[in-house]
Amino acid sequence: MSTSIHRYLSLGAGVQSSATLLLAARGDIPTFTAAVFADTAWEPTAVYQHLNRLERIATEAGIPIIRVSAGDIRADALDPAHRFASMPLFTLGPDGERGMARRQCTSEYKIKPIKAEIRRRLGYPHPRRVPAGVVADIAIGISLDEIGRARDADVGYMRNIFPLLDLGWRRSDCVAYLERHGLPGTPKSSCLGCPFHDDTFWAALKADSPAEWADAVAFDAAIRHGSARANADGHPLRGQFFLHRQRVPLDQVVLRPRSAAADVDVPGCGPWTCPHPGDTSTDTTDITVGTAPVREVA
Ligand code: SF4
Repeated sequence: MSTSIHRYLSLGAGVQSSATLLLAARGDIPTFTAAVFADTAWEPTAVYQHLNRLERIATEAGIPIIRVSAGDIRADALDPAHRFASMPLFTLGPDGERGMARRQCTSEYKIKPIKAEIRRRLGYPHPRRVPAGVVADIAIGISLDEIGRARDADVGYMRNIFPLLDLGWRRSDCVAYLERHGLPGTPKSSCLGCPFHDDTFWAALKADSPAEWADAVAFDAAIRHGSARANADGHPLRGQFFLHRQRVPLDQVVLRPRSAAADVDVPGCGPWTCPHPGDTSTDTTDITVGTAPVREVA
């Protein structure tokens, strides 16, 4: 196997990838050439604040954080001139069918820009062919409790590595390490208006960040009758989109947050670690609402 001199971290900025970055910054694992963060431009403020504090630590340790972006996911979804990369929105068909729109956003806004950056840094930007043997190691923050999500890369120029698995660390080890070294309260990394948020997230947003809550409520209303692009193209949605699984407007949802005692971890959306059903999931049933393929969910 060829030895790579390119060693990058896929930085989702959640608990596990933050801990992986801190491990490298403190010299507890080999360092990284850079950490790459894919910015959808619609992360909660708390995530950007956390990213800023990570950046200070990483920069001091000589690890640049590269922010790449394929655009502003919120603005693009509402732009009639922009192709809609489908978000996993909850759908309600004209006859009450319940489903979920296909998820293309993680690939479009997270995986693709990271791959493009890696190719560029290897010296073979798209569409140049990357020669065999030119490979970058990509560290992905998967801990022992998520080992089922550890997979090989799907392209020859990347080799996925899993420093937390090598250490045998669980998520709780990451939290403890972050806290021990001055990084308590690492937020969940996900778009502000991600339909995968649970009621605990929505309730906290509503209570603690009224402007961000209003932003999500406005997006929910704006996307109700399908993407701006589909409507502009004369392909309106036969049904409705919703951000919340109750399939009522977000500001009318009866939120049922978990009690503080219920220690349930709901992971965020890392480029390669999103735990939610994706395009290849088999636990859903395809149905169609208008032009949008959707899947029935339990
Ligand atoms: S956080 Fe949600 S909306 Fe954002 S890219 Fe991931 S799945 Fe899509």
